[in-house]
Amino acid sequence: MTFQDLNLLKNIQQALADEGYENPTPIQEQAIPIILEGTDLVGCAQTGTGKTAAFAIPILNALHHIVGSAKKVKYIRTLVITPTRELALQIGESFETYGKYTNIRQLTIFGGVNQVSQTDQLKKGVDILIATPGRLLDLHKQGFINLDHLHTLVLDEADQMLDMGFINDVKKIIKLTPDNRQTLLFSATMPIAIRELADTFLTKAKYVSVAPISSTAERVKQQLYYVDKGDKRKLLYHLIRNENLNNVLVFTRTKHGADNVVKALKKNGVEAGAIHGDKSQGARQRVLEQFKNKEIGVLVATDIAARGIDIESLPYVVNFDLPNIPETYVHRIGRTGRAGKEGLSISFCSKDELPYLKDIEKLIRLQLKVIDGHPYPYPDASEAKPDEQKKPDLRNKNKQANNSRKSEASKKNKKRWY
Ligand code: AMP
Repeated sequence: MTFQDLNLLKNIQQALADEGYENPTPIQEQAIPIILEGTDLVGCAQTGTGKTAAFAIPILNALHHIVGSAKKVKYIRTLVITPTRELALQIGESFETYGKYTNIRQLTIFGGVNQVSQTDQLKKGVDILIATPGRLLDLHKQGFINLDHLHTLVLDEADQMLDMGFINDVKKIIKLTPDNRQTLLFSATMPIAIRELADTFLTKAKYVSVAPISSTAERVKQQLYYVDKGDKRKLLYHLIRNENLNNVLVFTRTKHGADNVVKALKKNGVEAGAIHGDKSQGARQRVLEQFKNKEIGVLVATDIAARGIDIESLPYVVNFDLPNIPETYVHRIGRTGRAGKEGLSISFCSKDELPYLKDIEKLIRLQLKVIDGHPYPYPDASEAKPDEQKKPDLRNKNKQANNSRKSEASKKNKKRWY
């Protein structure tokens, strides 16, 4: 199927051609016709599948007919609710990109920044509003937002909004919109609370689903390094230098951990930056831009800050800490191996993380490939994977080799790291 087959407006097709998009992705193929006919939709799709364009393209197409000339009075016709500022900005960019040959005006609003520039834009009038839940409710309460003319409501990353405790805000927002709206709900996973939300607030919705959780995992090459907790930073540095990793997104479990990794890398001459909840919006944006422009080679992030970050052709993801929720692992590695490109995910597993590893492998129904022969294994790493490494002579050989490499490496690295 091509975009021509979807009967889109010429000016939207042109914008897609400018982006180099040739064919719709599976979620776009399924969702665009449904959205164009005005039906409610539940889309089970992860970031990386092209889901933003799957709703942005038909919304722009429909709005173009309603909005017409630039001079017409503006009402908010489409509202997109999304959990994080980063996602909101990326969705805004997508609407801008695909709608660049239309007169449709859009605005992205989120908390943590001064509201004045946002309210100034709202006063001028916008057709599409992209918002995080808190700021939307806040500005609505202050009287800056009128949703009476809303045509389409998009709930993006619904499961993430649930995880982040936004579900009541989302329900409040839905109640501010007209009953005859079109509602589109996108979620990477479909926990029961999301199904209930869909059943309550959507009407005769059609369900589309792409890339079940295991298929993302199958697309990406996944490696596992058993490593002592205290050696993880050294191993990361070793891989960056020796395997020439560049353009690496590193996940840590805590903000503090993210800062420590950045500090250690910088001390050793590796340009790195962190994004997490304690950084200001400006600082996060700056670091993200530097990473996208390849001014820094390593971006260290916590899950919430990184969720939905869209960086084209990201080659490497490092799970510096394994997540305690196995689905998070799938979200993380979904940052690489996009749009048919090869991706590599490297996971560090310390002894205390073995239960997390077990859960992950159960979920993805795959055993991660263990890389041994690196300088920082934990001494009894071989016992963690009994099936693969039961051949005793090989195990001893590896152990000896590892131990001697380890002592050499630790001698070499001592000065650099402490
Ligand atoms: P998303 O799932 O919305 O985060 O999109 C993932 C990435 O796929 C983004 O970088 C989009 O620019 C890109 N993309 C979306 N649709 C297409 C398409 N039809 N062809 C090529 N790339 C696409």
